[in-house]
This record gives sequence, structure tokens and C-alpha cells, in this order.
Amino acid sequence: MGDMIIKTNPVTGEKIGEFPISSPEHVSQAVARARGAFLLWSQMSLRTRMDALAGLQSEILRKGEEFARRISEDTGKPLVDSLLTELMSVPLFLGHYRKLAPRVLSRRKVKTPLVFQGKKSYVEHFPMGVIGVISPWNFPFQLSMIPIISALIGGNTVVLKPSEVTPITGEIVRELFAAIDVPEGTVEVIQGDGGTGAALVEADIDKVFFTGSVATGRKVMAAAAKKPIPVELELGGKDAMIICADANLKRAAKGAVWGGLLNCGQVCTSVERIFVEASVYDRFIELLKVEVEAVRVGGPDEKADVGPLTFPQQLETVEAQIEQAKSAGAKVLVGGERLDRKGQFYMPTVLTGVKPDMAVYREETFGPVLPVIKVADVDEAVRMANDHQYGLTGSVWTSDLKRGLAIASRLECGQVMVNDVITSVGNPAIPFGGVKSSGFGRYHGPEGLLAFTNQKAIMVGKDKANSEPFWFPYEKKYDEVLEAFRLLLNNHLLKALGPLKRLNKINREADVERKKGFGAGGES
Ligand code: NAD
Repeated sequence: MGDMIIKTNPVTGEKIGEFPISSPEHVSQAVARARGAFLLWSQMSLRTRMDALAGLQSEILRKGEEFARRISEDTGKPLVDSLLTELMSVPLFLGHYRKLAPRVLSRRKVKTPLVFQGKKSYVEHFPMGVIGVISPWNFPFQLSMIPIISALIGGNTVVLKPSEVTPITGEIVRELFAAIDVPEGTVEVIQGDGGTGAALVEADIDKVFFTGSVATGRKVMAAAAKKPIPVELELGGKDAMIICADANLKRAAKGAVWGGLLNCGQVCTSVERIFVEASVYDRFIELLKVEVEAVRVGGPDEKADVGPLTFPQQLETVEAQIEQAKSAGAKVLVGGERLDRKGQFYMPTVLTGVKPDMAVYREETFGPVLPVIKVADVDEAVRMANDHQYGLTGSVWTSDLKRGLAIASRLECGQVMVNDVITSVGNPAIPFGGVKSSGFGRYHGPEGLLAFTNQKAIMVGKDKANSEPFWFPYEKKYDEVLEAFRLLLNNHLLKALGPLKRLNKINREADVERKKGFGAGGES
């Protein structure tokens, strides 16, 4: 890639900017600055940190339209998406965490079993240090900002490595933190490619929060293992949408289209496999066709629903998967080819007759493609949905809510929606993350704050010399310990207090004996 990122416009294919790539030395310097800022930021009260971060909300409100335009220029996505799915996430999460963080991050008293006689126990959290956040290009703002603010609330500082595909959004993040009242170095942004990301993992950071592909996630984890530092991996998905015979089919068709084509299908939670019960399959296909054909494709200035793919390789991946599916017997119901214009535009596509051995079924597509699979019943749909390397999200469509929840519980993934798609990822109150090859770790919700803290347990003993039945001396204690052991194991907790008291008495008697010994022999 050389020492510059060459940025092209996804709509026109024209070059629109150059961004210098940070060298490994620059990366180390950025981490050192973040470590310097950590000394200040981590010492501030949670309230002071939250007040400082509230500045982000005012700044996003003030410059929202400009930011939306620049994010859309970077990615090709409609302006509506830049406002709703990117910029809005930050005020939403800040508002939620302002109320939640004091409860989640403050020291809390926890239970201490009776056998520990009068001790007290607490759990508290402390920041990890400098967090490396490595983000992808599909939601370059949201997927950088939410981990960043979650880490900052917990008292950490951050070095962000945005995707080389979307450097303009990386600059927006840099500008935002320069505009608010936080110590210099609290958030550092280093532009660059995979080499820069690798240098960040190698540098003196305390945790890496990675969002991206499985292949890169493996490399990040291997590099982090050498140190070792904790890793959180938010990887790909292959969302399964299960449409039961009793579903509201019109809503399901609209949901499939928004869920599969939002951001041109470049969403880790995109609908990528639609399982439909055989008895309603034909009707659903009819409705789906109508909805897909109504979708408008175009650039951010064309008031379209769906933009181009964000960069050329993504267009090639989509094209290759569809060609392979076609040659293996899948049928194109709608779309199935590039748009005849400049830029990386591909027609919204519906594929039927999709089989599990096709790439479009096995691999993440990340494009405007809706593969539909006819199933005999819900059991077959659940079995097929789960029989996959990915486990990020899924959805169930039925008019019977109880049944919907029961089917949701059977799906092997991190988030499931009933009669809805994608929006759960925007709810700041619930945890987000995957299973299997979709990664591990959770953010959003309370988990999202805890993910960036170390836990510390504190236990406080009594301030008395002889209140420890199980300390030395052991002489004369065996019978009482055995009795306490049996009573405790039989759950006779109160009765166990008897032998525990007698053990303390043995301690006191031993002290008296010892004193006598000192008296007899002198203290010399
Ligand atoms: P990618 O793995 O190619 O790149 C992600 C980031 O890692 C980029 O910033 C890249 O520069 C960096 N990188 C590359 N090599 C690296 C290395 N050796 N060490 C450290 N960093 C390195 O992914 P992408 O194409 O940018 O993103 C698309 C993928 O992200 C899809 O698979 C998608 O499903 C996934 N994704 C997951 C979530 C989620 O929350 N689970 C959200 C969005 C996207």
C-alpha cells in the first residue's frame, strides 16, 4: 500500500484523498501519549468523565449534517443511514451509560458465607489502561465510537486504528475528541492498513478490541497471545431469518428487504439466509419480489435506499458468490448483476434454490443478496440455522409470541429478534457479540462497561486477634473442624456456629497457654 492510503469515492470510483499511514514508531508514540493521558483520565471521577464525554453529543448535534455527508462520502451509504445507524448511536449510548455506569462501575457489597464469620466482601472495578480499538469499514463511525466511549467511561484511554477503506471517518473521530474537553492523548487515531493494526497489537497496550473478519481476528488473537493481553473479537455473521407459516408475511418480506439490503448488505447482522416454511413459501416469494423491486439504488445524493458496495474487492466477492451459486443451480429471482454505471453498484438480488454447499450459503456475503431456502418445517430451519460456522444473530417470524421466544431460545447465536431485524444491535441496554466463528466477548449493556475494566474483589476480616477459627494452631481442633465440616455440608448453617465458637475458644486458650510459657521461661 506504500505510505499513503489512497481514498476513492465508492459512487464514482474517483480518488478523493490521501492519508499518511502511521509507521510502527508513530504507533508507539501514540500509545505513549495515550498512556500519559491515562494517568490523568483514570484519576478523574466517573461523573467528571461523563460530563466531558457529553461534549460529544453537543458536537454531533452541531455538526451532524456535515459528519453524515462525510461518512456517506467515505462509505457510499445513504445520508439517512449515516444519521441513524452511525451518528445517532453515540448520544443513545452516552445517555444510557450516564444512568447505568454509576451502578455498574461502583464498588458493591456482596454476600459472605456464614463460615467466614463476620467478614465483609466487596467487588470493584478498575481501568485496564490503554485499549487498542481496531475497526472495520462497514459502520466506521459507530464501530469505532461505541467501543471507544465504553472504554473511556471505565477510565481507560484509547488508540483507534480505523479501517484503511474509510479513513475519512477516522478523521471525524479525531476531530470529535479534539473538540471536547478531555486530556490530550485520551483518544489517539492512527491511520493505516493491516500492518498498522498489527503494530498497534504489538505496542504497549493493555487490551485489544477488534471488529472485523475471522481471518484477521485469528491473527490479532495470535499476536495478543504472545504478550499476553485480553482480546475481544467481534467477527462475521450469517444471520438466519426463520419465517414460520403463521407469520405476518408482508411484514416479514419488508423486514427481509431492509435487513438484507441495509448498508448494501454490508452489515455483520445482515439477513443472509431466509428459511421459509414450505406451506407459505410461494406467497412469501411473491411478496419479497415486490418489495425488492421497489428498492432504489444510487449514491448518497440520489436519495436512494441502497448505495454502492464500499470498495471494489467487496463487489468482486459478491459477484463471485452469485456466479458460483448460479452455476451450482441457484435461480436468480431478481437482480443478479452489476448496475450499468460507474462505481461499485450491484443490483439487489434474490436467490432461490440455495443449497448449503454453495459459497453464498457457507460464507459471509456482505452484499445486497437475499438467499431464500424452502424448509419442511421450523425444526428443519432451526437445525440448518445452527449448522453453520457463524453465530452472531438470527430472527424468528411468527404471530405466536410464546412460540417465537421458544424458537429464539433454540438458536445458537448472540442476539435474536422476533418479528424484527438488525435493530437489537442499536439497543444500548442489551449485550452484543457472537458465538462460534462470530467471536467472543460482549459489549453494549452493562457487559460493555465491564469489558473494559479489571475486576477486583476485596474481603475485610474482623479487627480482633482471636476471631479466626481456622488459623493456627491446629492442635486440639480436628474434632471441632470435622463437626463444623459435617454441619456445613448438611446445610445446618446455624448449628455450625457452635463448633466455630468452640474453635475460637481453643484459640484464646492457646494464647493463655503461650503467655504462661513466656512467663515461665522469660522472654530472652
Ligand atoms: P478486516 O478483518 O479486513 O479488517 C478489520 C480491521 O483490521 C481493519 O482496520 C484492518 O486494517 C485491520 N487489520 C488487518 N490486518 C490486521 C492485522 N494483522 N492486525 C491487526 N489489524 C489488522 O475486516 P473488514 O473487511 O474491515 O470488516 C468486515 C468484517 O467485519 C466482516 O466479516 C464483518 O462481518 C465484520 N464485522 C463484524 C461486526 C461485529 O460486531 N461482529 C461488525 C461489523 C463488521
